Amino acid sequence: MMLRILSAASSIAIISVMACLCAGDAIAQPAPCNTSAELAPLRNKYICPVVGGGAVRKDPDACASTGGRLKSARKNGKPHNALDINATEGTAVVASKPGRVDIAGDWGAMGKTVIIDHGDGDYSIYGHLKSVSASKGSCVKAGDSLGAVGYTGNGQCLKDHNLTAHLHFAILRTAKLDLAKESGPIAAAIKNAEDWMEISQEYFGGDMLDLGVKDPEVMLQNAAGCLK
Ligand SMILES: [Zn+2]
Repeated sequence: MMLRILSAASSIAIISVMACLCAGDAIAQPAPCNTSAELAPLRNKYICPVVGGGAVRKDPDACASTGGRLKSARKNGKPHNALDINATEGTAVVASKPGRVDIAGDWGAMGKTVIIDHGDGDYSIYGHLKSVSASKGSCVKAGDSLGAVGYTGNGQCLKDHNLTAHLHFAILRTAKLDLAKESGPIAAAIKNAEDWMEISQEYFGGDMLDLGVKDPEVMLQNAAGCLK
């Protein structure tokens, strides 16, 4: 058994070496936007992603029976794992922390979506946008424009019922980089409406007390004027 394990391990090592020899510039990762020294003091500091702030969608409505908090249940029985911040359609949405825009486009149930790789294992997700103003691959600072609050994707249900629009905002903590590529696990989870907590657990290598999707509400309560 030990020999088989060693054999498997050496095969992986050989494949890795070959990948290193072949990769060259074909699979080059984009450069990080920030140094770890720049990011360290921002570990849990996210600014309000909705300009002027908004109320958390906490009451049941025609489209979500338990509102839009982190643990609110969804039809598939899984937790929402995000925060819905109510705001008028067209309200500006900004980057909550510096990073690189890895997803900027239309993503099914999430509608027009932006995902930022913050370069420290954290990702922030902005869904149901009316429009996207950030370009894929660009570096953004906290406060830079990403787009506008809208009703895209399954947010259309709210528009059909004359309910307030919102920003679907999530912070995913994984401790690994480059997971938000269009072929990566975060993008796949969004497309397939899977539970982001499972993604986070699969890719999180750190302290179990700090595992998984972070509660954006707790973080944003410290951002002046954000949650009303
Ligand atoms: Zn939501």
